[in-house]
Amino acid sequence: MFPQSTASPTPEEISIWIHDYGYIPVEPPLGVDLFSEIQRLKKEKNAVLLAHYYQDADIQDIADFVGDSLGLSQKAAETKADIIVFAGVHFMAETAKILNPTKKVLIPDINAGCSLSDSCPPAAFAAFKAKYPDHKVVSYINTSAAIKAMSDVIVTSSNAVPIVQALPADWKLIFAPDKNLGAYVIRKTGRDMVLWEGVCMVHTIFSHQKVRSLRAQYPDAELIAHPECEPALLEQADFIGSTTSLLNYVVQSPKLQFIVATEPGILHQMKQRAPHKELIQAPSEYSCSCNTCPHMKLNTLEKIYNALLFEAPEISLPSELIEAARRPIDKMLEMSRSLGLLRG
Ligand code: SF4
Repeated sequence: MFPQSTASPTPEEISIWIHDYGYIPVEPPLGVDLFSEIQRLKKEKNAVLLAHYYQDADIQDIADFVGDSLGLSQKAAETKADIIVFAGVHFMAETAKILNPTKKVLIPDINAGCSLSDSCPPAAFAAFKAKYPDHKVVSYINTSAAIKAMSDVIVTSSNAVPIVQALPADWKLIFAPDKNLGAYVIRKTGRDMVLWEGVCMVHTIFSHQKVRSLRAQYPDAELIAHPECEPALLEQADFIGSTTSLLNYVVQSPKLQFIVATEPGILHQMKQRAPHKELIQAPSEYSCSCNTCPHMKLNTLEKIYNALLFEAPEISLPSELIEAARRPIDKMLEMSRSLGLLRG
């Protein structure tokens, strides 16, 4: 996995590695304590490590902030650090760069993409949007900078329902790219929206039948689900919410058993904050761990250490794209504050 052993690569070597591997393939020194070295490098370089809830437990434990897309965007917007290391996927690091154009934003592995973001290619979406010239575009944050630049407001799974509810009633809306989240928002708000047909490979894989059997096996357990799951699973759920809402629900609910239908990385925070509760992972259609996000799991402590040490791979975006993609993100942050969904 780490074929290179040189201690001081040249900038040319680094760019060839990023091109060939997507990360810095240098073996950390033998016996190095990655936890303390990452902490030392963060301090020395005034860097902040932001990690998504779907990261492995060791990455969550060493991060300065762990959250979902909305919380991470807010942290990225507020940080005073010179370097942001984003342990998440590419669109999240891009969002951090859009909010901090003068800062260095690093992603440990640029191959960490997102099936949902990839399901909405910019050229195809531009053609789709052109068919509805009188519509405004509401885009889920799980999109590339190019899609954000074609949008009027960005939403996350935490704020999609109240933001769509608060948009002017005479606006005609397109919602992209997640059709399941879009259908959920339509059900909750009663707003008619044209949906782009994208899905998340992780959240569509839960088996409705197996979940039903599991509920019979654990009659006292509540089923909690992320709105990216398919409608047939959401219909069975006792609670539907963003990753942060699911975490808070487990902590605050008087119930003791939960079947959790989202990426299992969140179980680490749930176990820490509610150690006496039993968490059962919702099963997928297949006998495998396909509900673990393969993109999120590309990040490792070694890659984070190398990203900090060599300050690469770095996210870079054209300034016009940053400017165009920033407007709908700012709109989301403003609306979230005025709706009382964010502090500050
Ligand atoms: S869990 Fe789904 S939406 Fe989230 S990063 Fe992975 S593929 Fe994308």
